[in-house]
Amino acid sequence: MAAPSAAEQRWLREAQDFAHRALPGSEGQEPVALEAVLRCLRSAGGGALPLGYSFISISDLQHQQRIPCCSHLTWSTNEFKEWAHQGQGALPTQTALPRTYLILVGCITDGRQENKEKLVDGCLYVKDNTGIIPCELLHFELEWLESLVLFPSWSYIPQTDQSAAGYLEILEDPVLVNTPKKALHSIPVAYPTSAEPLLTSRIPCRRRSKLTVAGELIRLGPLLCVRHKTFFFLFLKCFASAVCVPVLVQEPSQLAWHHVLHLGHRYTITGLSMSSLKKSGQKTFVTGVSSCLLPYCAEHVREQPLNSTWRGESTQSSSLETAEQLSGSLELGVEEEGPRSTRESKIISYVGVVTKILNVQAGLFLLDNQVCLCLAYLPVLKSARGLRPGACVELIDVHLLQKPLVSFPFIVLGACLSSAVVLKRFSRLSTPYQPPSSSGNLCLQLLFRYNLGMPLYLWLVSLLETFEERFSCFFGHRRLLSCTHQNPGAAEKFLVPLLQAMVPDREKARDIYKEILAKVHHCPLQKYLTLDPPCQAPSLSAVCHVAQQKSWEGFSPSQLLSPLEAQHMGTQDLNRRLAWSYCTLSAGSFQPRLILLGVLRVSSRSSSLQLQDKSSTLPCVISQKDGSPFANTALIGSLLQVENYQLVVERFLQTDFPSWEHLENLEHVREKKTSVYVQFYFEDVQVLHAAEGQLQKGLRSENSTSLRKKKDDNVTPELDAPEAKVLKLEDPKSDTHRDENCQGGHSSTGTSSCVSHLFLVTQKEGLMLRNYQLPKEDGEGQELQHSFQATVLWLGRPRLWSHPREIGNLPELEDTSCDREESVTQQEALLLFMGKSLRWFPFLHQDGLYRFIVPCCSDLEVFDKLCFPPVSATFLTRPSCPLCLPVQDTWHLQHETWISCLPERQLAARMVLTGMDQRIFSIPEVLSSSFTGSLVSFSGEIVERTLCASPKNEKPSVTVRLPRQKGNLLASDHSVKLSVSVAPGSPVVIDIYITATYLQHLWGLLPGAKILFQNLERKISRFRNVYCTYIACSCVSIISLPASHLLFPSSPAGEASSPSLVFLSNLRPHLQNLPRARILCHLSCVLTVYLQWVCSLCSSIFKEGRCTRHSPPCPSHTGVRQASARVLVEDGTGEAVVLCRNEHVAAMLGLSLPEWEALQNCVQSRGSVSIQHGEATGTGCLEEPGDIVACYLRSLCRSPLICRPILLDFSLDRKPSKILQPAPAQLRNFRCGEVEFVSQMGPRLSLLCLNVEEVEQDALRYLNSERIRRTSSYC
Ligand SMILES: [Zn+2]
Ligand SMILES: [Zn+2]
Repeated sequence: MAAPSAAEQRWLREAQDFAHRALPGSEGQEPVALEAVLRCLRSAGGGALPLGYSFISISDLQHQQRIPCCSHLTWSTNEFKEWAHQGQGALPTQTALPRTYLILVGCITDGRQENKEKLVDGCLYVKDNTGIIPCELLHFELEWLESLVLFPSWSYIPQTDQSAAGYLEILEDPVLVNTPKKALHSIPVAYPTSAEPLLTSRIPCRRRSKLTVAGELIRLGPLLCVRHKTFFFLFLKCFASAVCVPVLVQEPSQLAWHHVLHLGHRYTITGLSMSSLKKSGQKTFVTGVSSCLLPYCAEHVREQPLNSTWRGESTQSSSLETAEQLSGSLELGVEEEGPRSTRESKIISYVGVVTKILNVQAGLFLLDNQVCLCLAYLPVLKSARGLRPGACVELIDVHLLQKPLVSFPFIVLGACLSSAVVLKRFSRLSTPYQPPSSSGNLCLQLLFRYNLGMPLYLWLVSLLETFEERFSCFFGHRRLLSCTHQNPGAAEKFLVPLLQAMVPDREKARDIYKEILAKVHHCPLQKYLTLDPPCQAPSLSAVCHVAQQKSWEGFSPSQLLSPLEAQHMGTQDLNRRLAWSYCTLSAGSFQPRLILLGVLRVSSRSSSLQLQDKSSTLPCVISQKDGSPFANTALIGSLLQVENYQLVVERFLQTDFPSWEHLENLEHVREKKTSVYVQFYFEDVQVLHAAEGQLQKGLRSENSTSLRKKKDDNVTPELDAPEAKVLKLEDPKSDTHRDENCQGGHSSTGTSSCVSHLFLVTQKEGLMLRNYQLPKEDGEGQELQHSFQATVLWLGRPRLWSHPREIGNLPELEDTSCDREESVTQQEALLLFMGKSLRWFPFLHQDGLYRFIVPCCSDLEVFDKLCFPPVSATFLTRPSCPLCLPVQDTWHLQHETWISCLPERQLAARMVLTGMDQRIFSIPEVLSSSFTGSLVSFSGEIVERTLCASPKNEKPSVTVRLPRQKGNLLASDHSVKLSVSVAPGSPVVIDIYITATYLQHLWGLLPGAKILFQNLERKISRFRNVYCTYIACSCVSIISLPASHLLFPSSPAGEASSPSLVFLSNLRPHLQNLPRARILCHLSCVLTVYLQWVCSLCSSIFKEGRCTRHSPPCPSHTGVRQASARVLVEDGTGEAVVLCRNEHVAAMLGLSLPEWEALQNCVQSRGSVSIQHGEATGTGCLEEPGDIVACYLRSLCRSPLICRPILLDFSLDRKPSKILQPAPAQLRNFRCGEVEFVSQMGPRLSLLCLNVEEVEQDALRYLNSERIRRTSSYC
């Protein structure tokens, strides 16, 4: 042999180093072992040493290799390229495993050494002196165990999670470094045909002599681990018949057999005894310590005669399901959808390539991009090693489920305990390995606890996937998914009730032995029913998206208007009526039912409550069923589940429809916007995960000087870790200064004391831009600040607590009595909320007792020090002016109770406080003319919500597009009129005007909602009507949500069907706002009729197809017909002027539709026609005496036929024309049919006509008699 080259010498030195360090073998034996290894390497490499390769120890492999790699000792570059190329077949986008040049030598072993004890778990490992690593082999021989082997071809797959080790995939059979010794003896065997009767006999098991059984391996059960004992079953079939027997292998040293056994191969197993299983009594052969597994070899066995008594018994043939032949050509066509009945799953075999890991925790893998393999029903002891994308698997006897779940896109192959999943080829792709977590796998735990079938399981997995995706960023996987019985995690709290509803009579727990051994196959995958998921819990962004979609589904602008009304509307009116509408959705509006989940947070940016998940936020309004406002500050940061809610989609349309005739032409819709929010009752909330006591944990001391300092330094202070986390939820953008709080050296004292101060809110004002200055980080300009303020009454003195946990139950109130001497006004303060403290807006309500908690603080004067103007002795003597206290960002607000809920013993305090609460009036009180006072508070139900032009901006404007405020979806010159009544159906209604600028903070103002309005300004119109406006100090809170039947707004025209019949003398116009009433009356005279054709844009007269406005010229091409008339009616108890509009004019004049059309067409050429009659002088209408149309109208009005009885539906005209007011009370004569009588008349009423009906003679007679009867009771 030639002298080794320098390179070879160097290589050999390294090899020696390696052998010394890593090669297993007794001390001092390394040279021998190395020699053997080198011999192997030389023979593999055709005599040469692989100098391009270097040895690697297990430990170096685990610690140095971070990405998957492979090594092939003898391959050429081309061989490797071809191998890699073939591996990419199924997944061309994935890269092949990178090649390394490493030599791996080690021992294959079937257990890990732990505390001097060998732990056998059925897995195989490769070990050397430096470490041990799990390995997977496609082919295994028992003789390799504990022998030193060289691995010519292998891949190393590190785990994705760096903390744990990866594993080896052995691509080619290892080469034994030392040649093995073989010894085979002739052994007596029994064949399954003769052995089977032993198992079926009823004779109790006795200790029999050990038996040897030979047969063909027909089924190999999975490795199972029950109560820390690992075992598996195998089934040997007689060579000549279908008879087969089960063999239980449970000796630790024999678990490695599982890797050796191949289906269809013939084996001999020695040393078997019989045993019956405890639970089911089924009998099986069991291996003993001395049992051996030998390949069956006819020359080496002789049949063992069994006792002749067993011989005579008939043998039953196995009734295992006959599997369809192994086929890659799976029937993928979906079966015909029959009626929803239970389906039988087919048992098939399949070979496919893993193309994606769908969910490793749930045991779901995608094969060939089209079939889902579910391993959940099969305990995957091997941690899914080898099941990487690119690997080829053979599935034997798996269940084929065509469509277990409506929403699941794949056909499912479910492996049960009698299936076999065999790895056929390792992946050649550089795809990572994700091990399933064996402990705390909620999917699998619920699967076994509820014994779920495949459809429910897949649904459960999809729910859990979404849940985890949405919320693990808030609470962490562990807390979310923990599944201990004592303390179920959020996911379990969410899922278990759903499962319980689905499997009310859940089947008995699975009997795995029966599943494996029973002759008739029995498992949870045999039958299935396609599941239509009963509910869904999608991400909030998906919820908003679907809600918006639904809100526009089938929407057309004409739905929002009644055609009768719309045809007389000018452009501005028309488009304004379309500008704002809403629709409401409930859980059941979605298919399937939609469950809302979200973390409750409060935004200091919008001062609104929100539900949040990873995808989005959804503003929410929470009410309480008892009518008290929602103030539960402890709920912030909790994960909530709501199933009973109203999802409101407000629709904002920017349109430029010239007139109603164009409503179908959607080109005129310029912009569509929506805003979505949800409202629900606190009582309907289920807390899945309570927020950690926001202040209760980890507070550190911080004295007031630090607060001061921060203010000066323009630093936004925040709390340390736990609170900071909560705050992060509240305002994701503001965590720049997170950690500065307690790191700045203030934490030295290390205590968790805090200071609290109790107060009562006596007045809360609305949110608006105010001229306060917020200390700003970026020193930006002096913009107006969003802020709100509240007047409060301090109760007691500030208190020091050693820990927030210890804050007691209102001790301040116990000793208020002794403080009683203190002037109440001295204790009053004006709290100013700006910046982050705006988040308390939804929680702070009048008449609530709250406590400020200043964390990390021991200075009892912290509140006084921050007051401005600063507390000075001179100032304290001026009680009229309350001190202003800016609420600090770090302070925590805690709601304690309501003043009305204080218990008896704290009554003393209540006495002091009584009279402080603001008076809530009733709507009739506010409407009453004797009411004085300008700020009013009252509650009522919204009857109607209409968008109108702001009073200041009533002049028609040519531009339809109006400027908007930032963040506001309504044009800023709009305002909303809310008609509010005492109770549903009550005639007493008050109107409230809110300008658009305030509206962006007001959620939930929907018809049907009961609202408490506070501090509205009461105003009186020039028609002496009382109304209210929302001003800066106003505030609303929602007492109750609209009843669900009101949530589908009826068409605007659909009013109450039959209004009540009244008398004119009963109406008291200043108190009432009759939405609709009816009288039987006599039309005594038509005072005026005015017909016109007006420009839809500028309301000028439209004549011959053109607008008549000249300076500036109007571009409009659309005219709108309008008509109005005033008529005088009387009903014997009173007289009224009725204003009729549009189509009611025709009805009043008794014109048929064609007659009315013809009349209006005549007006189009004239622009306008008017007549006046009787008392109606000075109304400003100019008659043209010569006009034919005017003549016709005049003769019509003067005809005695026009004076007739009618049924009139009306509402009170709240803007009556003054000129029509007659002299006060007088006596007048009336005629009613044949009867004539005299009556005392009150002042004439002004009514608005809503409908006119002719009265038939019979009806008239009846109504008259009724009327006379009721009138006489009046007189
Ligand atoms: Zn099965
Ligand atoms: Zn015009």
